[in-house]
Amino acid sequence: MEKRVLITGTGLGALTAALRLARRGYQVEMVEKYNQPGGRLNQIKKDGFTFDMGPTFFSMTYEFEEFVKDAGIDMPFRFRELETLYAVNFRGSDKRYYIHKNLDALAKEFEAVEPNFKEKMEKFLNAGGKFFHDVEHKVLKRNYDSLWDYMLAMATVPPKHAPRLFRSVWSEMERHFESREVKEIFSLVAFFLGATPFDTPAIYTLLSYTELVHDGYHNVEGGMYKIVEGLMDEIEKKNIKVHYNTEIVDYRSENGQITAFIDQHGKAWEADIFLVNSDAAYFRGKIFKRSKFNEKKLDKMRWTLAPFTLYLGIDKKLDNVPLHNYFLGDNFEEYAKKVFKNSITFEKPYYYVNVVSRSDPESAPEGKDALFVLCPVPDLRFKPDWSDKDEITRNIITDLSERMGIDLDKHIISQTVMTPEDWKDAFNLYKGSGLGLGHDLNQIGGFRPKNYDEEYGNVFYVGASTLPGTGLPMTVISSKLVVERISKKYGLLHA
Ligand SMILES: Cc1cc2nc3c(=O)[nH]c(=O)nc-3n(C[C@H](O)[C@H](O)[C@H](O)COP(=O)(O)OP(=O)(O)OC[C@H]3O[C@@H](n4cnc5c(N)ncnc54)[C@H](O)[C@@H]3O)c2cc1C
Repeated sequence: MEKRVLITGTGLGALTAALRLARRGYQVEMVEKYNQPGGRLNQIKKDGFTFDMGPTFFSMTYEFEEFVKDAGIDMPFRFRELETLYAVNFRGSDKRYYIHKNLDALAKEFEAVEPNFKEKMEKFLNAGGKFFHDVEHKVLKRNYDSLWDYMLAMATVPPKHAPRLFRSVWSEMERHFESREVKEIFSLVAFFLGATPFDTPAIYTLLSYTELVHDGYHNVEGGMYKIVEGLMDEIEKKNIKVHYNTEIVDYRSENGQITAFIDQHGKAWEADIFLVNSDAAYFRGKIFKRSKFNEKKLDKMRWTLAPFTLYLGIDKKLDNVPLHNYFLGDNFEEYAKKVFKNSITFEKPYYYVNVVSRSDPESAPEGKDALFVLCPVPDLRFKPDWSDKDEITRNIITDLSERMGIDLDKHIISQTVMTPEDWKDAFNLYKGSGLGLGHDLNQIGGFRPKNYDEEYGNVFYVGASTLPGTGLPMTVISSKLVVERISKKYGLLHA
């Protein structure tokens, strides 16, 4: 008999889960709070410019290959590998370090500051690679039925990796490299996880291996939102209905099962199975009112950085600025340690700039450029008031102008700003945290909010704050894991 699944949310985890479930014969329907699909993988169109709202590149393309095969569809978008991953500039210097995937080219960038760079980097990457391959299948890409189950999986990881659980990314950098430039640049991976190198376990240096050796970084032809557009075409072909501007705020239950989710207008959405793509910790607290996830408890958890994002359209081309850029200051340790606690000002901010139109000319009108700026900031627990957003925007634009050697103010013809508050309001991100729950040892694997509900047998979760973690490839894995769980319980309804 056909089973009806209601999916709450249309983030990447939800869209990929919907297509995997449809392939297995489930009848899927989706409700979404925002006015268009994609969640954080979204798009802003304004004044003739098109901006990707959040993600700008991704790794582990083979997870998308696995997904299309499982869903029985063709790859609905085209991705391309980046040979130069990004460029990094330090305040007060004109030098730009280009991070190439080719190790010889990379070593040339650092020859003046780090003797024997190539040998040191090979050793560093080798250690990260060994850990990655020891955990990828045995620990990362699997479901857990209990904490014990997780502990048993962890016990299969060779003990030689154990010390890296207890060191930070920063101390791992110090063991391998001497120069400030190399240590700071290659510890930026911690920020990609939404944390800092000083409080992220050294095991995550495996991300340097995934970016520089394994599968590299990719972006999408025509912009990242093509992923969502491609998936939506497939969703339409499968007759999956999607309802926008529909927020789930309540529920009805009977005998340990949910019978309906209720939206903000009081409409009941009935189904046999409920798959939640809203943040897995937030939803349990806000909607199910679980005491383990009440505001006090959620506030005590480790959440990832909040985004302060600018979308700028300018009336000229910045031909000398690469696609992906990090602009760092001269007080890395102090800044990283203080920024998320709101104990440093944003006078001299650290930020990332993506010149979208460098790879996708159609994102800006002829002769113009579209810029995306992401500045990691404290979430609403530490900085609830964003009335100074114009001042922060001004600081970023002034700094960027100086470092690009152009008075941006004279050239900006379109400007949109999103504070953590806007991100929270758009997608129900807890206190504006950009990447969801952090990846501390007590918040991963068997300790992360589960992808099945503790109380209601027909409720499941998919997305960044449940297994395995944040980022686009992880949410694709998340959909694989939850669909495995649903199929195990309800069966394969047709092949
Ligand atoms: C600024 C920024 C930059 C990023 N850059 C990158 C990058 O370069 N590379 C990368 O791999 N990852 C990046 N990420 C992370 C990546 O975007 C996320 O990990 C991923 O998109 C999360 O997908 P998800 O499935 O968890 O769903 P989400 O994107 O969280 O979507 C959940 C959906 O559920 C909806 N929803 C929530 N509550 C309800 C409710 N009650 N009722 C109805 N609907 C609801 C929301 O509106 C949303 O559409 C970035 C994130 C941000 C914020």
